[in-house]
Amino acid sequence: MTPQSTPDSSPSGAAVKAADRAHVFHSWSAQDLIDPLAVAGAEGSYFWDYDGRRYLDFTSGLVFTNIGYQHPKVVAAIQEQAGRMTTFAPAFAIEARSEAARLIAERTPGDLDKIFFTNGGADAVEHALRMARLHTGRPKVLSAYRSYHGGTQQAVNVTGDPRRWASDTGTAGVVRFWAPFLYRSRFHAETEEQECARALEHLETTIAFEGPATIAAIVLETIPGTAGIMVPPPGYLAGVREICDRHGIVFVLDEVMAGFGRTGTWFAAGLFGVVPDLMTFAKGVNSGYVPLGGVAISPAIAETFAKRPYPGGLTYSGHPLACAAAVATIGVMAEEGVVEHAARLGSDVLGPALRELAARHPSVGEVRGTGMFWALELVRDQQTREPLVPYNATGEANAPMAAFAAAAKRHGLWPFVNMNRTHVVPPCNVSEAELKEGLAALDAALSVADTYT
Ligand code: PMP
Repeated sequence: MTPQSTPDSSPSGAAVKAADRAHVFHSWSAQDLIDPLAVAGAEGSYFWDYDGRRYLDFTSGLVFTNIGYQHPKVVAAIQEQAGRMTTFAPAFAIEARSEAARLIAERTPGDLDKIFFTNGGADAVEHALRMARLHTGRPKVLSAYRSYHGGTQQAVNVTGDPRRWASDTGTAGVVRFWAPFLYRSRFHAETEEQECARALEHLETTIAFEGPATIAAIVLETIPGTAGIMVPPPGYLAGVREICDRHGIVFVLDEVMAGFGRTGTWFAAGLFGVVPDLMTFAKGVNSGYVPLGGVAISPAIAETFAKRPYPGGLTYSGHPLACAAAVATIGVMAEEGVVEHAARLGSDVLGPALRELAARHPSVGEVRGTGMFWALELVRDQQTREPLVPYNATGEANAPMAAFAAAAKRHGLWPFVNMNRTHVVPPCNVSEAELKEGLAALDAALSVADTYT
């Protein structure tokens, strides 16, 4: 990977960078091949470096600042909670924690009324799978190849994408299958109906050959995020729900990325009218201001642990600062109509504008998404759909995507880039003017990608 950020010329920026380079061991990176930007500050949809260079953040951090950076009401709520009760152990009833759980349970689909708090998304997935295995007494979990569920051991084992390869210990009991993705159909489908029917049949066959009574859970992202924002065809998730019911399998929906307004609804499950048995969340629950995640639990699974202890917990589970941030964030989202705003801006402004870009740029193979959750699939050839860079490319092979990202940054836009895709995932409360500014920069960066077609 080629370092892409601008060097910091200011003395404080240089000092921050020097200490980072000397002592911070960064995630998912070859330590000597990265050059992290030293960030001096952030507000709303923007952040800036120590030289005053400002970037419009079309990544929402790692798709978590759903209400942007430094929302004054959330910052005030964290300060207020810090003044009153900075921390407290999990085994007590704490106002901020009870209130956060109530507000989350009120918004989760169906009857998911109990909330187990974690520190983030991966540990939420870990615990959801543990609950499913203990509830069913079965060993296996089925997950999709095109998926990301987190960086801890069990979560990375159920992950489909290449981040699993180096650390997969081949844990017994994880079986992967293909979820629907019409643009690159594994099922030779030409319509969404075919893709849906064949993907469900493939899942049924996988279950039949694995032995239904050995399968504890099927885990899916409601709309797979990092793997490409592939909105499932109508009927797919309802079909999986029906299959799970028929075989006594726990249906886990991972809404760590898609939840809390990202798709223009509180939870993406609502778009498809499905209610899972367990649902994981994190990120947008408090815009990532203080680490928080969790699992929303159905009454039947909660009942399993009514008289027998649930064997699992975390020291900082439901940390008061994180929960106070969640209460304030959910309050801001409700008061400011952030979810409705994301839905309207997605369907009236962002979706049409991205399709218009796709019509003009030969490098755009497909546009897909909803709300503030969009992906552009970049290709060398729109007919053959050959990706702009090979799967999991690094170094020179990844040069076209690196050039695209560098061009976006030159135009003041911080893009989300993953393999041959750019995801357009700004804060859910981004303004229309900010969106248009970002789209103009994206237009310019796509012209660079076009030179590789
Ligand atoms: N599940 C999904 C769908 C995610 O997108 C992510 C993070 N990108 C995770 C789980 C893991 O969350 P965390 O990084 O907070 O552990």
